[in-house]
Amino acid sequence: MWIKTIYQGCLDLLFPPRCGICQIYLEAGNRKTLCPDCLSRVRSLQEPVCLSCGIEVYSAGTGQPLCGECLRKPPPFDFARSLFRYDDDIRLLISRLKYNKDMSVLPCLSELIQQSELTLFASCDYYVPVPLHRKRLRQRGFNQALWLTRLCFGKHNPRIAPAVLQRTINSVPQVTLNGRERRKSLKKAFICSTKIDISGASVCLVDDVYTTGTTVSECSRALLAGGAERVVVLTLARVAVPHRGRGGS
Ligand SMILES: [Zn+2]
Ligand SMILES: [Zn+2]
Repeated sequence: MWIKTIYQGCLDLLFPPRCGICQIYLEAGNRKTLCPDCLSRVRSLQEPVCLSCGIEVYSAGTGQPLCGECLRKPPPFDFARSLFRYDDDIRLLISRLKYNKDMSVLPCLSELIQQSELTLFASCDYYVPVPLHRKRLRQRGFNQALWLTRLCFGKHNPRIAPAVLQRTINSVPQVTLNGRERRKSLKKAFICSTKIDISGASVCLVDDVYTTGTTVSECSRALLAGGAERVVVLTLARVAVPHRGRGGS
């Protein structure tokens, strides 16, 4: 144990730890990956949230809040929740991971996720990341949603099952499309694998960013068609107002 401590101390001297967002030097030895300023800027979603899709809502009284979108068109999943607002810092971390393959953001995301409440998802039978098409996976080399699933639910959790869902259509990046175009491009883009029986299962679908909910809705439909009894959705971040910025779907 003390050898590990000395080794870590030497590493801190040689490579002083820096904040994963603003890069200022951090106090050595406290095992933090973000400085207090950056940590305080990352905002969790605040209650009340829409009970269905999880977006922050203004609730004028008692009762179960639902946003206008979910009242108009109930989503196919049981509920969705997001851990953080899709603000600049979270956008930067996700973008560095997805587009720059910068794995050094993983400890930062891990630190943030560890401060989050995930008990709503504890009893799910399967944790399924939103899949990439195999061509996109080959280009990128990894699926960021799988990394996030592992950070949220433990790297060696046997219930993490990326093989449950497959993406059969390599649709154009969702960030370039509006809501209707997203729905059209993702229609029937996902199927369930026949190798894993999810009949009657409770499935937690995991993705990086919830923008319009099109991707997780299409995945949920595929999971329900494949026999899942219920689907719940967890995303790292939530876009407050759907927009065309670079990010999620
Ligand atoms: Zn910082
Ligand atoms: Zn809603």
